Amino acid sequence: MSFSNLGLSQRVVDAVTAAGYTTPTPIQAQAIPHVLQRKDVLGIAQTGTGKTAAFTLPMLSILEQGRARARMPRTLILEPTRELAAQVEENFTKYSGNQKLSVALLIGGVSFGDQDAKITRGVDVLIATPGRLLDHFERGKLLLTGIEILVIDEADRMLDMGFIPDIEKIAGLCPFTRQTLFFTATMPPEIKRITDQFLHHPEVIEVSRPASTATTITQNLVATHSKDYEKRDTLRKLIRAAQESAEHPLKNGIIFCNRKREVATLYRSLEKHGFSVGALHGDMDQRARMNALDAFRKNDLTLLVASDVAARGLDIPDVSHVFNYDIPHHAEDYVHRIGRTGRAGRKGAAMTLVARGDEKSLAAIEKLIGKAIEWQEGDLSSLPERPEGEDDRPARRPRREDRETRKPRRGEGREHVRTAKEQKIIDEASVREERSEDRAPPKAAKPPREDRPAREDRPARQDRTPRDAQSPKTHSDRTDGGKPRHEQRRHRDDDGPTPKGFGDAIPGFLMAGMGKK
Ligand code: AMP
Repeated sequence: MSFSNLGLSQRVVDAVTAAGYTTPTPIQAQAIPHVLQRKDVLGIAQTGTGKTAAFTLPMLSILEQGRARARMPRTLILEPTRELAAQVEENFTKYSGNQKLSVALLIGGVSFGDQDAKITRGVDVLIATPGRLLDHFERGKLLLTGIEILVIDEADRMLDMGFIPDIEKIAGLCPFTRQTLFFTATMPPEIKRITDQFLHHPEVIEVSRPASTATTITQNLVATHSKDYEKRDTLRKLIRAAQESAEHPLKNGIIFCNRKREVATLYRSLEKHGFSVGALHGDMDQRARMNALDAFRKNDLTLLVASDVAARGLDIPDVSHVFNYDIPHHAEDYVHRIGRTGRAGRKGAAMTLVARGDEKSLAAIEKLIGKAIEWQEGDLSSLPERPEGEDDRPARRPRREDRETRKPRRGEGREHVRTAKEQKIIDEASVREERSEDRAPPKAAKPPREDRPAREDRPARQDRTPRDAQSPKTHSDRTDGGKPRHEQRRHRDDDGPTPKGFGDAIPGFLMAGMGKK
């Protein structure tokens, strides 16, 4: 099978050949002919399978006919994170060398002005994160009625980030007659529901089992005590051992943490200990994130500490090691994390730190991947006993700013140990924080008020659909406290900093709620 057998235009085949690709990957071979026949496609595929080119290449062929009109993009690609959106833009640039096409990227953290100017001139391809796209729409600068092809990429990640109501709204603004290409790595029930809603007689293409892990990856568990300084010590030892390994020496590695704050702390600690390290999390501005990623790709940095949301789906072809500093709470995240290594048949190693209290998450992962992961040098029962009086749960003090703003509550010592329920709430808040980055422009990027259309010039707010109203428990709704969009807008346009999650300071009403149980 070669690219010239798939029905792509000669220009596109030439561009792919120039990029050095000779054989289509399975998802490309199966999806491209259907996309060219203008059918809807449901692609169940993970990143690393070549799925981006599976929609980019036929779209480029289709776009050769016709031209863009002002404010009415011809195609729309939705991505859950800024990095993924930028990566798709790179794909268009790589394969559209022989064509005159205009591509615009609408992501948070970049000024509205430049994005507006591009849309006004007319674009063939619009690549966007959902929040920023809706912001542009609400400013009256964008019409979606000319969309011929809608691509929803990484749909299960969109679900995790609470973007589904936004996606439903955006799909409702596109013409009913559009072609829809929908990609997801897994098919949870909520995703199944929206595929039934968005896709018309789709061609379903599944290229690998959603829960499979590559056989080229050696997976290991490493028992550790759970206090942060002990986990950091265990991690440093692991990294050093990997650097000295004769069998599979560490070339570069991604270290995953569950929360942004941990990413920042671990990054500082590793830097202090002399490691070549960068960080990737949602509180960093766009330029810092891109710089860290570029430096890691070019091997100027050996290690990258990252959160799931920031790292999901990023195309870093040759990662030798993945370290799970925290065991992921969602088993699917384990599959995605370790999928960063062992790509394209290369050897990879994935090591997961496991502390007491992590057993449930570990069992869920092993159930999902269908096998037990081997312990390196003994399981939790072989950990040395702690000195008497010390427990094995992480002790966390309230953050400095929290200590300054509130007194400890009755029954709450200075060293507050989180319960599993508290931890879950904090983790969910962390996902919401990551999600909010898509929407809230940083201070410098806020457009001058006079540049914004007067309220009466803006399109009327769409009423909530009955479906939105029926699903008040999504992340999205909770993020904005159930406020209507016009109130959320004010919040997103605020000069204030990106809202933080609860951190270590859990509001009293939640603590009370937990206590009651
Ligand atoms: P993706 O799954 O779209 O993130 O792609 C993963 C990687 O595979 C990217 O680095 C692509 O450049 C690369 N790739 C895409 N198509 C092919 C192909 N036909 N042959 C070899 N590599 C490819």
